[in-house]
Amino acid sequence: MNNQEARKAVVDSRRIVVKIGSSSLTENGNIRDEIFTDLARQISALKSAGREVILVSSGAVAAGSRALGWENAGNSVREKQAAAAVGQIHLMESYRREFEKFDTSIAQVLVTRTGLDDRERFINARHTLLHLLELGVVPVVNENDAVSPEEIRFGDNDNLSATVLNLVSADLLIILTDVDGLHVAKPEEGQSKPALIEIVDAIDEGVEAACGGSISTFGSGGMVTKLEAARSARHSGAATVLCSSHEPDVLLRVASEGENLGTLFLAGTKLKSRKHWLAFTTHPRGTLTLDDGAVKALLSNGNSLLPPGISKVQGEFGVGDTVSCVDIKGSEIARGLIGYDAAAARLLVGASTQEIEQRLGYSTGDEIIHRDDLVLTRDFNFQSDPTKRK
Ligand code: GLU
Repeated sequence: MNNQEARKAVVDSRRIVVKIGSSSLTENGNIRDEIFTDLARQISALKSAGREVILVSSGAVAAGSRALGWENAGNSVREKQAAAAVGQIHLMESYRREFEKFDTSIAQVLVTRTGLDDRERFINARHTLLHLLELGVVPVVNENDAVSPEEIRFGDNDNLSATVLNLVSADLLIILTDVDGLHVAKPEEGQSKPALIEIVDAIDEGVEAACGGSISTFGSGGMVTKLEAARSARHSGAATVLCSSHEPDVLLRVASEGENLGTLFLAGTKLKSRKHWLAFTTHPRGTLTLDDGAVKALLSNGNSLLPPGISKVQGEFGVGDTVSCVDIKGSEIARGLIGYDAAAARLLVGASTQEIEQRLGYSTGDEIIHRDDLVLTRDFNFQSDPTKRK
């Protein structure tokens, strides 16, 4: 697909998730009030043209810090959570006031990673969001920072926006940020900007390397999480445009006029929504190390995971929790919903299927992870220790 065709597909998208980050909503620590007007005007115009839009907005911590008279966003988790609780209502009031000028109703939807980790609550959130869209309302989504446990949270709204995209099967993600897109190398202050990458058709090591040698050089919440979001969106079958919130009329120019702004990440092959949820939203509670035979059986033969191929079990998990399957070098190759708890899985290391009952005193089936509950993640370049991935 060339750039022109790809930009045409962007214009043809019907359901759009727009993500705006704290860096775009604030300037020198102050909320840029004009941005709320700008977003309300453009999103209302997209709606009038028959598009459905969900806004994922950060800014609660920044707005709360301002309301509390703090000079910065607070250092401790507790301070940030308190600031988010104060700021979220200021944020929503700014959106409500500005959207009202365009006769657009908005709704606040606060989510947590632990909530969306649960399949039932994930489906519930989907129903609510879809119903809001049916009613012509613009949902404004943020993480419920005040109650999110530190170790299991989205932490950045880039990943949250990609999760929302899968929740509602949207076909376009627009990430508004304070840079104009992804460049062939990291822009350095005082030096001329390296060329902008206009189109990305696979988020491979080349793209990560173009970010300045290593994906991690941008630090957390920088370009890393934007690439992660684009990768997740790609496997939802959606395109992502990463562009500057400072560009006038940026949403309309990207989504309605198909203008060549920012970096466009092309859509990839769509995973079934449940498998996407399993790979990108659930939080692995443990790790199974597999021998080469089991790795091959999963990757090449599409088999379920049986006990003989498991050489090590780490973590504490219950039946139905997500676990990560890694090869002997520790690289993740799959994730799945496990059929046995951690204590049972440990007893089953290296067992033949005939030995299951003998070792446990019961059997709930030969499969440790059934094929239907397994998703291959080897090509998703998840960073090391999956249980520590935010
Ligand atoms: N949820 C946080 C907030 O509203 C922001 C997370 C982020 O900046 O990505 O302040």
